[in-house]
Amino acid sequence: MKLGLLPLLASPCCGAELRFSSLEQMPREGAEVEDGALACSACAASYPIVSGVPRLLPRDGADPRAARTGASFAYEWLRYPGTPEEDERIFREESQSVPEDFRDRLVLDAGCGMGRYALVALSWGAHVVALDFSESLVRLLDAARAHPRLHLVQGDLLRPPLRRDRFDFVYSHGVLHHTSDTRAAFGAVARLVKPRGGLSVWLYGKAGRFRDFVTNPLRPDRAWVGRHRRLAWLIVGVRQLLSDVVRFFSTRLPPPLTYALCLPITILGAVPGLKYLTFSVHPRFRVRLLENFDWLSPPFQHHHTKEELLAWCEEAGFDVLSVLPHGLVPKPGVLARRRR
Ligand SMILES: [Zn+2]
Repeated sequence: MKLGLLPLLASPCCGAELRFSSLEQMPREGAEVEDGALACSACAASYPIVSGVPRLLPRDGADPRAARTGASFAYEWLRYPGTPEEDERIFREESQSVPEDFRDRLVLDAGCGMGRYALVALSWGAHVVALDFSESLVRLLDAARAHPRLHLVQGDLLRPPLRRDRFDFVYSHGVLHHTSDTRAAFGAVARLVKPRGGLSVWLYGKAGRFRDFVTNPLRPDRAWVGRHRRLAWLIVGVRQLLSDVVRFFSTRLPPPLTYALCLPITILGAVPGLKYLTFSVHPRFRVRLLENFDWLSPPFQHHHTKEELLAWCEEAGFDVLSVLPHGLVPKPGVLARRRR
């Protein structure tokens, strides 16, 4: 942990400032604190810094399903086979942003996982705070030690241990629906954006009402979905039903067994027609396997419509600049700007 991160942190207990437990722990400018403790300035709570990462998880009310969700992602991300080029392409598309939007900006990756997109934001010149609930963020340790612009924080998105109104840009891609309450997590993350700052979010989608489904924006390469909206809506609905049934079991298995269950589903994912009833249709087998695991393992997985997400943006005081286009399965996503 670098000294520069301290002014951005807020205690998860009362939102107050944090300070180093003792003056001796205070690092020099540019140095890293590997192990130590941070104390809340308003109460007696204290939080450890372990392996260079401040561990700012709330102490109370830990839901075992949240722990399992975190553990399942930590398991998965150790196996992720993607390349930096693919990560950048996906990040450009999903954040609906270009490198110029990030240069010298203070950016929060809310739910960074192993940090694929935090590294893209860093390469675009941003000062990046990468926040995650799970242990997977230790994958970013070497990068954080090497880059003065990268900071790691372990914390809960429902009570992010960060100061409000500070960030130029916050993104949370495919994460908020893995908390116990997507809407509350959205609100908590949106409050971290400063006035006129940007917010980019996408969530797992659901079929929803047909009249909302027909207005979902489609990627240009998925124009056929637009010509068969009724069929597409039915497929999405049936797929959701199958998913609910499989997940009833898969979320209760130990992660390695869930991984094994994903193998036949991943093979099915290459069969024309049938593949749309599985959870990933990525052309590469290993990526498909991982995406299926990502789908079937975490206990928390909620689904939303773009109408819900648009209403949350309005409620939080954001103007929506663009809505993310997607393929067959809805992927409600927005790029939004906070009002003054
Ligand atoms: Zn406190």
